[in-house]
Amino acid sequence: MTKQLIFGHKNPDTDSICSALAYQSFKKQLGENVEAVRLGSLNKETEYVLREANVDAPRLIEKVEDSIKAVILVDHNEFQQSVDNIRDVKITEVIDHHRIANFETNDPLFVRVEPVGCTATILTKIFRENNITISEQDARLLLSAIISDTLLFKSPTCTPEDEKIARELADIAKVDIEEYGLAMLKAGTDLSDKLVSELLAMDAKEFTMGDAKVEIAQINAVDIAEIYTQQEELEAEINKVIEERNLDLFLLVVTDIINSNSEVLALGNRSKHVETAFEVELLANRALLEGVVSRKKQIVTKLGDTF
Ligand code: MN
Ligand code: MN
Repeated sequence: MTKQLIFGHKNPDTDSICSALAYQSFKKQLGENVEAVRLGSLNKETEYVLREANVDAPRLIEKVEDSIKAVILVDHNEFQQSVDNIRDVKITEVIDHHRIANFETNDPLFVRVEPVGCTATILTKIFRENNITISEQDARLLLSAIISDTLLFKSPTCTPEDEKIARELADIAKVDIEEYGLAMLKAGTDLSDKLVSELLAMDAKEFTMGDAKVEIAQINAVDIAEIYTQQEELEAEINKVIEERNLDLFLLVVTDIINSNSEVLALGNRSKHVETAFEVELLANRALLEGVVSRKKQIVTKLGDTF
């Protein structure tokens, strides 16, 4: 059989990278011809994870090469978050934990979607269901993805199953979960060498809400105020992106990973929707969202409802 590629979403996070790598390892143990690849550069957190796990980063692709006939999607399904030529390739599998939207295929496929906190949680179950041993290295990758997506179990997207599986993976990986988890999350907040444009693109996802095109970018921080010392530059860059991509709303979510709050910056002709959705007033385009840390569970749903 010809090679299949496995990849997560654009602007990959730790789950998108580690789930692609772990699923590659699972498939290889079944004798399948697969390659984990990525659709963008690694963030600092993921770099830390791969360095600690002693694993090379997956190959970067711009588009799926003509020689590849089929792909497997992990950690996403919405086409605008996937590779640009996704419509030209056959999708054979999707393993995900997000809403299903803008998803359509010509052929039947395997879809495994569960409302859990992380793709890696589902993958761990798939390893077990198939009696495939989880190596120490794969356990570390899967664990890191769960820590990342659940912000060390503090996000409301985290289910008891995510935490239970993470603790079992920590045993296999011989990792102290709290110590390693905090170090990993902190590594991701080192933004010292990032350009403003890079900050906005690092963890950005595009959504269709009603008839509107909405981009939501998230930055994890230990000090929210520090990010907003650059508000002017951020706004200039966001306005550029809005113009270039014809967006109706750009929402920047800066999340305090220690205190579990977010302060958002909203720009675009539909920014009023942010005030309605969260019952806040934007002051200088900004508002504090108490207790909000999850884009998926606390932002996309609420905001989507107002469109
Ligand atoms: Mn993700
Ligand atoms: Mn995920």
